[in-house]
Order: sequence, then C-alpha cells, then structure tokens
Amino acid sequence: MSADLATVPRTAWRAPGRARVARLRDRLRDVYGVPCAPPHEDPLAELVLTVLSQSTNDRNRDVAFLRLRDRFDTWDAVRDAPVPEVEEAIRPGGISKVKSQRIHDILVAIEAANSAGGLDLGWMRDAPVSESRDFLCALPGVGRKTAACVLLFSYGLRDVPVDTHVSRVGMRLHVLRPGAPFEELHDAMLALTPSGAELELHVNLLRHGRRTCHAQRPACPSCILRRSCPSSHLFQPR
Ligand code: SF4
Repeated sequence: MSADLATVPRTAWRAPGRARVARLRDRLRDVYGVPCAPPHEDPLAELVLTVLSQSTNDRNRDVAFLRLRDRFDTWDAVRDAPVPEVEEAIRPGGISKVKSQRIHDILVAIEAANSAGGLDLGWMRDAPVSESRDFLCALPGVGRKTAACVLLFSYGLRDVPVDTHVSRVGMRLHVLRPGAPFEELHDAMLALTPSGAELELHVNLLRHGRRTCHAQRPACPSCILRRSCPSSHLFQPR
C-alpha cells in the first residue's frame, strides 16, 4: 500500500448511505460541474489508450496514441506489425517496450476469443455488462479499471473506473473501505454510484484528487469536502 493510503484512518469504517454519497456528489458538482463525454463507440481505441496511459501523464499518452494512429491505418495493421515498429511509434508514452508488447498481445487475444470475429467489439454495446467485463478482464494485462474505462467511455455502460485518484479520495472520505483490494473497490464503487452518475462521480473524484486531495500533502484546509471528511485532520500544511 502506498504511503498516502497508509495514513487513512481504518477505524469505524461503515459503508456510506445514499444520502451521504448524494451530498458528496452535489458538493463536487458545485466545484467541477457535470462532465460531458459522450460515448465515442470505439472500444479498441479506448483499450489501447488505457494501456498507453500507464505510468505517464495525459499529454504523453495522447502524443503516443496519435503517433500510433498516424503510423498505422487500422488496428489489424497494428496487430500484424513487428512489435518494435509499434514500440517506436509509441515511444513518447514511456515504457514503450512493455506497452507495445501488451498492445500486440491484447489485439491477438481479441481476435482469438472474439465470437463476433476479428477485432470488432461492437457487440459490447448491447451485451450484458458482466459478459463484456469478463471478456475484457480475460485479455492479457487487462484488469477491472481498464475494462471499466472501455465500457463507460466507449458505450456509456454502467461501470466506474477506480484509478489511483478515485481510490485515494474515496478511502480518505471513507466512501470506500480503506485498504480494500481493487476488485472490492470496483464492486463497492459501482454499488454506491447511482445509475446515470457513473461518469460524473468518476471524473469529479479524479479531478478532486488531482487538484486538492493530492497523494502527498492534500490541501485539506481549503477542501470543499473537509467538513464531512474523516481524514481532514490528518493533513495540515507544514
Ligand atoms: S479534507 Fe483532505 S483528505 Fe479529505 S477529501 Fe479533502 S483534501 Fe482529501
């Protein structure tokens, strides 16, 4: 467990009620608004983008993604290309050797497992979410967070990605159980998120983690959630 999560108080945790989640959502909405990200209906692009996002910032991720799309006309071409060529294309995204092999392995695995044939994942639009999630989580290196990104951002389906920011803020607020494993965090996040609020809660918790509830030295004194946060007393400016 990272140092910032080790400081989360673990005593007296209780699953949050709907009213508390609604209040937190409203407070976050006051500050960050309601995010607008209509489903783009391109699950393969989302899958690759999420692989590229590992251990880098959004800008480098996007540069790597655009270079990949410029270099190869189709995802079939990416799959069939020598891995070093993919590695060279995505180099600005960092750890390109690992990511290029991962992208290749995922595309090959989709082709092998996809009953719809080829690299077409359009069937996920109308399939039960659990079926699509299981399919994605069986791909090499794909976990619940990546699967949730694909389902939510591609088709607006009911899933909530729990990344490092969402998990940190959620645990500090005692919305998520401190120290819970990622599988439990995703199940819990889904259970506490009202239907239709998946994108909003994910994006606004992430924004709050980036802008205020930093991993190191969170800005508790100026935080709009401090009155209802059981962790607020733990973090004070030096
Ligand atoms: S009060 Fe502090 S620990 Fe709690 S959410 Fe705000 S910044 Fe994070």
